Amino acid sequence: MFRIKKAKGGLKQRYIDMDRVRTERFGNESNKELLDEVFSHIGRTFKGLSKAKRSKKYNKQVDQSKRPKADEKFWDELVEYAKSIGIDLIGFTEVDEYFIFEEEMTDYRVKDNVLDNAIVLGMEMDKGRIEQAPKPPAGAEAMKIYADLGEATVKLAQYLRDRGFQAQAFHPFGGPVLYPPMAEKAGLGEIGVNGVLISRKFGPRQRLSMIATDASLPETKKPNLGIREYCKTCELCVKACPGGAIFPHDKKKQSPNGKYLQNIDGDKCFPHFFKHFGCSICIKVCPFSKVGYDEVMKKKRPVLTATTKD
Ligand code: SF4
Ligand code: SF4
Repeated sequence: MFRIKKAKGGLKQRYIDMDRVRTERFGNESNKELLDEVFSHIGRTFKGLSKAKRSKKYNKQVDQSKRPKADEKFWDELVEYAKSIGIDLIGFTEVDEYFIFEEEMTDYRVKDNVLDNAIVLGMEMDKGRIEQAPKPPAGAEAMKIYADLGEATVKLAQYLRDRGFQAQAFHPFGGPVLYPPMAEKAGLGEIGVNGVLISRKFGPRQRLSMIATDASLPETKKPNLGIREYCKTCELCVKACPGGAIFPHDKKKQSPNGKYLQNIDGDKCFPHFFKHFGCSICIKVCPFSKVGYDEVMKKKRPVLTATTKD
């Protein structure tokens, strides 16, 4: 039902084989409207994935003589354009080779072929639908944002190419780079105990994607949000996780090369993730989603208690 990709130093990530999801999980679902919605998002997601993978070909057509100076004005305009196509978060940083997967999905092998600079993108998932996790509307919302953010990522990469820069669009549903640590490096937030990027604006309630480019980037300041410190007093996600898959903050595993922490036991998460087509309980229960960053940090103590393992 799922496959595994690996990065330098042993980093691994699982991803869902969508063909099997279609036939085995949703084949007999009675909620036709929701099913139709999900499959329309799946269709758009796969179209977006296929367009994102054509970056290599499109980059050959880039006319570098058109390049403007990548100055403040250039980046302000790019950010404005990104917002106009629905992107909620944008950050800039260099690509860290330790977050590049060694093997990619099927025929898409990009090791040693990722451009040096990264534009990391985020799009909010609707709170009302995520609150219904692990019921289908939460999974449908995740698929919607995979599709929407994927389309926006492809458009933004084209925006850069139209201006003479090379750009590789990496789709939120799967790409050659691990997004949460890249997003943290780009100053978009901090990775919480649940292994998800937690941003000031949406907590853990966003999907991420990335564009790798040869444009020189503006500087991004990395804010100290204090999220990881807060997590130590909370751990609601650890208690609520139906698979017991989230390592508590003092039991995280360091990778052999010391480059990252393992937050989740994928073998325990994935059956639940798959069973509910997205699960998302660890996002739903997080106070940074429920009540928001400002409220949580005002109180500086656990503001909610785990009530369910549904
Ligand atoms: S639920 Fe609590 S411990 Fe888990 S990520 Fe959110 S704040 Fe951190
Ligand atoms: S998605 Fe579900 S099973 Fe996986 S870590 Fe989050 S709560 Fe646990």
